Parts: sequence; C-alpha cells; structure tokens
Amino acid sequence: MIVKPMIRSNICINAHPLGCAKEVEHQIAYVQSKNSSRGRKPGAPVSGGTHKAGPVKAALVLGCSTGYGLASRITATFGYGAATVGVSFEKEGTETKSGTPGWYNNKAFDRAAAKAGIPSVTINGDAFSDAIRTQVIEAAKKLGVTFDVVIYSLASPVRTDPDTGVMYKSVLKPFGKPYSGMTVDPMSGKLSMMSAEPANDDEAAQTVKVMGGEDWARWIERLTAAGVLSQGCTTVAYSYIGPALSHAIYRDGTIGGAKKHLEKTARELDATLAKSIGGAAFVSINKGLVTRSSAVIPIIPLYLSVLFKVMKAKGTHEGCIEQIERLWAERLYAGASVPVDADHLIRIDDLELDPAVQKEVDARLARVTEENLPELGDLTGYRHDFLAANGFDVAGIDYEADVPRMDAI
Ligand code: NAD
Repeated sequence: MIVKPMIRSNICINAHPLGCAKEVEHQIAYVQSKNSSRGRKPGAPVSGGTHKAGPVKAALVLGCSTGYGLASRITATFGYGAATVGVSFEKEGTETKSGTPGWYNNKAFDRAAAKAGIPSVTINGDAFSDAIRTQVIEAAKKLGVTFDVVIYSLASPVRTDPDTGVMYKSVLKPFGKPYSGMTVDPMSGKLSMMSAEPANDDEAAQTVKVMGGEDWARWIERLTAAGVLSQGCTTVAYSYIGPALSHAIYRDGTIGGAKKHLEKTARELDATLAKSIGGAAFVSINKGLVTRSSAVIPIIPLYLSVLFKVMKAKGTHEGCIEQIERLWAERLYAGASVPVDADHLIRIDDLELDPAVQKEVDARLARVTEENLPELGDLTGYRHDFLAANGFDVAGIDYEADVPRMDAI
C-alpha cells in the first residue's frame, strides 16, 4: 500500500515503517559521526559524576521508543557501546494497519544493535506496572549485566498506581485563571487561539501522580533491591522549563507541578543512591522539541517554529539526538562531577534559554502573523520534525513506493 500521513487535530495518527527506520538510522549515524569528532570509542572506559573510569556496560531506558528516550538509547549503544534494556508502550503494526512510530523505531534499533553485536532487549508494556519491573530485572540477570545508567523518559497521560489499582489522569492546565495562547497548524500554517481552563486541586494532584517522581522512585527502589544497579549508577529523568511566555500553562501549571515533584524526587534519590551504591540521580532540563505531546500545548508549536528559525540562524539548533549526545558527552561522562544549577538540575537547555535567543524570539512573536510566519519562523522545519516523528518527509524514502506490509520494517 501507499502510506501517507493521516493528521487529525494536530496529531499524526499513522506511521511509515520505512521512514521510522530511516530516522533511527540517521540518529545512529549522527552519534557515530560524533564518535569520530570527539575521539570517542564505544565500549572504551569513560568517567564522570559517580561513574569511575570504566565502560558504560549497560543502560536501562524507560520510554525508549521515541523522542528523548530513543535518543538516549541510541547514544548509549552507538556512542558508548552499552547493552540496553528498553521499555515502551507501543501499538504493534498488523499486516495492513499501522503500528505506532515507536514500535517501528524499536524494531529498527534492535536490528541495528544486533548488527553491531551489542545486546538489546526491548520490552513492550506498561512501565508503571510491577510486572514490567520484574521483566526488566529478569532481562538484566539473563544478560548478566547491572545497569550503569537508568534513563527515565516516560511521557504518559495516565498511570495506574500498582498498590491500589487506581488510574490517575494528567492534565495540561494553568492554575488560577484561564490561559490562552496562539498555536499554529503545522500543515496549513494557520494560526488560531487555544485556551485552557484552570485546574482544580484534584486534577493537579492526579497530574503529579502520573508525571511526578513516584514511579521513578519505585523503579530505583526495586532495581536496587534486586541488585541490578552497578556501583556508581547514575539515573536521569527529563524535564522542561521553557520560555517565560509559556510558564503559566507549563512550568507554573499542572505539568510543571508534576515536574517539580520529579525534581524533588531526584534530590531524594541522589541522597539514597549515594548511600546505598555510591550512585547519583539528576533531572536534566532539555530543549523544547516537536513531539506528539508538545504539538497540542497552547503557544508551544508557534514558539518552537520561531525558536528553530532563530537558533538555526545562530547555528545552535539541536534535535533530540544532538541534545542527548551532548548531555552524555559534556555533562554525564565529561570526566568530572556533573555540573548542576542551584536546584540540582542539569541544564542542557542552555542554548534555548540563551538571553539573546529569547529576546529575538520574543520580538518576533510580538509581530508574528499568518502572512509573515514563513519569514519570522521556521514553519517548514517544524512541519518536517512533526512529520518525521511518524516516519514521513524523511530523506531517502520513496513515499510513492508500495509498502508491502505494515508489520515489518
Ligand atoms: P515521547 O512521547 O516521544 O516518548 C514517551 C515515551 O514513553 C515513549 O517511548 C512511550 O512509549 C513511553 N511510554 C508512555 N507511557 C508508557 C507506559 N505506560 N509504559 C511504558 N512506556 C510508556 O516523549 P518525549 O517528548 O521524548 O518526552 C520524554 C521526557 O522528556 C518527558 O519527561 C518530557 O516531559 C521530557 N521533555 C520533553 C521535551 C519536549 O519538548 N518534547 C522537552 C524537555 C523535556
């Protein structure tokens, strides 16, 4: 069949298997090119933080299939030579029906890792459940590894508490008063106003249950008890702060509340891990990028399209893989203690929040219209990232060619 993007309300609901696989290959090639320019050899000893000179032998990536988690897994394996166990929750393709992009990405990753002779185990299931924790522990034991690094990169709208069976839902809402922000349709370039009503206390608490640090702490507790974390293991979760104009809906809203809980959890885990296994825990504040979730946040798509234009002109634009490769090479394994700000946060969003960049973005957003957006913003780049996340608009793929099956790459 000929596979074309199906887009509903700013969400692409299908995926191109070969395009997804090609995107994974592009990310692998990027990391390999950085191996040469940085003089890095996968599997060679590295040091940094609490990791004492030795190879990064094994990594666990929770949320491994797309976005920042996929970039983390690719960096671990193709930059550092690490065996990986990856967990994600993806829909399998059938012969005729599209699976989710992450399902194809996982297939492509496993294939490339096998070709490179580096072990990978991919588990598809609910990372919030204890059953999946048990599967990960069993996989580590079977591989004969302990994890030197655990990446927590889950982004989910719901979580079932394994102790009570209660399902919690997260919401993206401001506090106190409604929030309105302009958004852009990535395909048509049309601007429209998007609004969100203020959250009540229950919605705020449920969002913390889903996207806060409770589940991350449970992972670390179970993995430590099972003896599958290495001495000096580092665990990192991801968060976002973003520009002032989005704070009311993001950083100071319900999701920001959950992220602050995640950041508090990092400080607690850091103390616990230091005591138990000489390890460390961090939250890394990453750059805003086009993903399934960010496309539906008021102001963010418009902000990102303008940001990309400004950062590309400055030569500082990065995608997920550039961010994560730099996080590992220049923060986690740079041979020194991991640099953090006063709140114990790793800042890899430094280039995004560069005051000169933000000043220019603010000036452009103040005068942006549908007519001048192609000039003030990088709508083409934004649209490309939006489509490429689902395997469309990827260089090297013939989109007029027949895709014989949707359950293979
Ligand atoms: P994403 O949607 O691309 O990836 C989420 C991952 O979580 C996928 O692998 C998915 O399969 C997995 N997942 C979701 N629910 C699951 C479940 N129940 N069990 C197992 N796996 C599950 O998201 P992303 O944008 O890469 O975000 C990852 C993290 O990075 C989040 O914490 C997010 O807040 C943070 N972050 C994102 C941005 C951004 O702009 N996208 C910026 C900074 C930080």
